[in-house]
Amino acid sequence: MRYHGAVIRPPSEASSLIVQVTYGCSNDTCDFCGTYLDKPFAVRPFGEVVDDVTALPATVRQRVQRVFLADGDALALSPRKLGDILDLLRRALPNLERVSSYANARNLLAKSVAELSELRRGGLELLYLGLESGDDQTLADIHKGMTVAEQIEGCRLATEAGLELSVTAILGLAGTARSLEHGRATGAALSAIDPRFIGILTLMLTPGTAMERRVASGELVLPDSIGMLRELREIVAGTEVTHCTFRSNHASNYLPVGGELPRDKAAMLAALEKVLRAPASVQLRPESWRLL
Ligand code: SF4
Repeated sequence: MRYHGAVIRPPSEASSLIVQVTYGCSNDTCDFCGTYLDKPFAVRPFGEVVDDVTALPATVRQRVQRVFLADGDALALSPRKLGDILDLLRRALPNLERVSSYANARNLLAKSVAELSELRRGGLELLYLGLESGDDQTLADIHKGMTVAEQIEGCRLATEAGLELSVTAILGLAGTARSLEHGRATGAALSAIDPRFIGILTLMLTPGTAMERRVASGELVLPDSIGMLRELREIVAGTEVTHCTFRSNHASNYLPVGGELPRDKAAMLAALEKVLRAPASVQLRPESWRLL
């Protein structure tokens, strides 16, 4: 399998075969994101994908149960191209159980429910979508390029098509100025989306990004670790979902909090309240241990 440039995938796809079908991200505008600064968006020629998948040894092809389509938003591809890729994977990988990908609202909104349902029938099962914030002002400030309403609607189309969603939001994006608004609005947006999985990350400044420059210039002041946890409490308190696995155990976070919602909501809030009341009672992840 050949890869072009740095390739990332969600932590939960660690055992998946990564198949690169696009390069970069078609929405390369987010101030905090440095993942594809050196890799402009492009569609990988389908013939190359075919060559890579069919060249895998038969023993490897037998073992593959999960595939993750890279890079930043394979859903930028047309339904026809995605359908061809799913056909290829089903034919070449006899024990394939799940295909997943990053997605963004713009790419979902460009497809109909019927088209998304066809992809679901073809084996696409799980989409990872970066909501980042449920606060429109924050989304505009970080140049996400999409509104909250667009993101909720894109997710609604995916859900209606039977696709599962794993939605992430990022603590700290709004700085201290809109910290609690960001937290509350994010809880409300997550409730409207009602995804199967929620992941909360904490902002890490990537060199070369606009966000790093805004913080260095003093334009944006980030919450401290306790401020980040206050935001997290607002998100948890405001998230009303049907059945969702909620995790804030990513290496960027100061404190792992998680559980099944709604079942564990009270326990998660109690754990956060305890830390907020007595920060010294809990060992938070040291700044130098935090990772993207
Ligand atoms: S955060 Fe996601 S949508 Fe934004 S630039 Fe990075 S990969 Fe693209």
